[in-house]
Amino acid sequence: MEILNRSIIKDLLKSAKKEDLDHIVNVKGWVRTKRGNKNVAFIALNDGSIIHSIQIVVDLANFDEEVMKLITTGSCISVNGKLVESMGQGQHVEIQATEIHVYGTADAESYPLQKKGHSLEFLREIAHLRPRTNTFGAVLRVRHAMAYGIHKYYNDNGFFYIHTPIITGSDAEGAGAMFRVTTMDAKNPPLTEDGKVNYAEDFFGKETNLTVSGQLEAELAAMSLTKVYTFGPTFRAENSNTPRHLAEFWMNEPEVAFNEIKENMDLAEDFIKYLIKYALENCMDDLQFLNDMYDKELLERLNFVVNNDFMRLAYTEAIDILMKSGQSFEFPVSWGVDLQSEHERYLVEKHFQKPVILTDYPKDIKAFYMKQNDDGKTVRAMDVLFPKIGEIIGGSQREENYDKLLNRIHEMGIPEKDVWWYLDTRRFGTAPHSGFGLGFERLILFVTGMANIRDVIPFPRTPMNAEF
Ligand code: ATP
Ligand code: MN
Repeated sequence: MEILNRSIIKDLLKSAKKEDLDHIVNVKGWVRTKRGNKNVAFIALNDGSIIHSIQIVVDLANFDEEVMKLITTGSCISVNGKLVESMGQGQHVEIQATEIHVYGTADAESYPLQKKGHSLEFLREIAHLRPRTNTFGAVLRVRHAMAYGIHKYYNDNGFFYIHTPIITGSDAEGAGAMFRVTTMDAKNPPLTEDGKVNYAEDFFGKETNLTVSGQLEAELAAMSLTKVYTFGPTFRAENSNTPRHLAEFWMNEPEVAFNEIKENMDLAEDFIKYLIKYALENCMDDLQFLNDMYDKELLERLNFVVNNDFMRLAYTEAIDILMKSGQSFEFPVSWGVDLQSEHERYLVEKHFQKPVILTDYPKDIKAFYMKQNDDGKTVRAMDVLFPKIGEIIGGSQREENYDKLLNRIHEMGIPEKDVWWYLDTRRFGTAPHSGFGLGFERLILFVTGMANIRDVIPFPRTPMNAEF
């Protein structure tokens, strides 16, 4: 077979010009479908660069019948052929094959994706193969674009990317149950004299866990670089089997010195609108596919969010609205309760019909580091609530006052020895500052219109599931 430079299918489909026609090109990819008759075969070939496949037209008179039999759905081939204008609908170029090489066959009897239209539940059981479906190709391309968009937004706005640790020695954040990191023998751990597990003999000489958030460390960096962000994996050992929770998920957390709660809200709103606009401008083929296949209102919803201001109100006002709503919620509402997804979605989808930013939550349901309001009851927390998702961002202005922070730490029973380094930022050159955490997969859920968080991360980790 003649060796040619491989063309990317996206380039051929999107940017082939008149003068490119009638040249011999090479494409490589996986066969999505093969159909035809005894004279001609039409192969839809996909290389993942774009949702669309390129059509390969094979004049069977010129090809070995035995080789053609190997080309089935899922097989991987390399094709040389003439790029020509297509007569078919929905594409303007196709390839008339001159040579075909089969890299890998996919036995039609055993290849699980032989047929189209598998359920998302079934595809979760074959997470190692599901990237080959149109749906997961689309989701993974959008996910990539959103990760890139996050870095681009921050870079263009003068933020610095801080790599915060994944193994942490502090469990002060209280964001959820943690996964222990240890090299101790589970059957026979070293014990102290009074029979307790002796972590002093563990790898780090103390108890360590996987991080639930990079925030505390990001705050340290913001006290020097002013505008920083983290973006990495976070872990929560909570046994919540919901369509919005993973045990391992990616979180993006900006932290900005001198920002107060209002600027924090402005940043969150500008940032998330930027990302959705970025998706609309750069992922339209994939979004159109997802819109047509899964969620007919997806594009409308994305455009709506970009073009409308978010509603901003205090927790206390939201409780008022919920109590007067006449709705019968599974979890009853009163001042002081943590809002459940059903409450958040009522506010967003029914009452305001737009994204909502709630602020000033009761201090007892929020973390120790949030700035205390003068009322003595609430803290300067800020949650961004989205249609179909509920909470997509959680953040706050941080308590910068040393004494107030220390008081709160004592009140909540957090050992001072675990957070001495955090307290130091308030002892040396403290400053007002704010930040938030965006759940990356919740963003991808919103942007793709997918309904289950397990379908927007390549290899989901949930209770009882870490196969792939
Ligand atoms: P929720 O109340 O929805 O469980 P949270 O209040 O515990 O979330 P935060 O600690 O505020 O979450 O984390 C910041 C963001 O991270 C959340 O707004 C959400 O988008 C995301 N997030 C939190 N927990 C998970 C999880 N288990 N899986 C996926 N994303 C999560
Ligand atoms: Mn939260």
